[in-house]
Amino acid sequence: MPQTPPKFVILDRDGVINLDSDQFIKTPDEWIPIPGSLEAIAALNEAGYRVVVASNQSGIGRGLFEMSALNAMHEKMYKALARLGGRVEAIFFCPHTAADDCDCRKPKPGLIQQAAQRFGIELRGVPIVGDSLRDLQAGVAFGCTPHLVRTGKGEATLAKGGLPPGTLVHDDLRAFSRWLLEGEGTRHGAAASHAGTAASPSATSPVDSTNPR
Ligand SMILES: [Mg+2]
Ligand SMILES: [Zn+2]
Repeated sequence: MPQTPPKFVILDRDGVINLDSDQFIKTPDEWIPIPGSLEAIAALNEAGYRVVVASNQSGIGRGLFEMSALNAMHEKMYKALARLGGRVEAIFFCPHTAADDCDCRKPKPGLIQQAAQRFGIELRGVPIVGDSLRDLQAGVAFGCTPHLVRTGKGEATLAKGGLPPGTLVHDDLRAFSRWLLEGEGTRHGAAASHAGTAASPSATSPVDSTNPR
């Protein structure tokens, strides 16, 4: 029997929870949730999942906005979530640019590692949800299961290909959440590694049909 992964979900922010922009999200006004995304987080919480965010925020390193603006955006997110009965446990972010050569800018694993250490969890089997390849790569290194959403840069990421084996594709965070919660009964404690993948076939499709999980 494989070990049941902890009820934990790691999310990218821009293009997954909120609308993305090539001009960066620099102010609370520019931080606009994708329809259904906050409800999806609340639904995960309701089912006992703890949710954390891991986000590259190189706009800070580029001097496009200050930490105070980032905090204000996250305050907006926390408040909007709270109105729905949802919460994010923590937001791990990388403020650096590629030139800084840090170990936290995804696809580097630093942010994911920080989350695992903070919450004392074993990452194997924990879903990681992103709209870019690097989001998934950062988690796959630890055995997280990769989930791509089509929102944000998702369609472009899908078109480029080269996703980690077993990546599942969902229309958006709401579709991911439904998929995870619908499949719970069959996946948890199930010996078959493919159990649960039949849920929501219209919204969720495996990229690599040979190993959907
Ligand atoms: Mg993103
Ligand atoms: Zn960094």
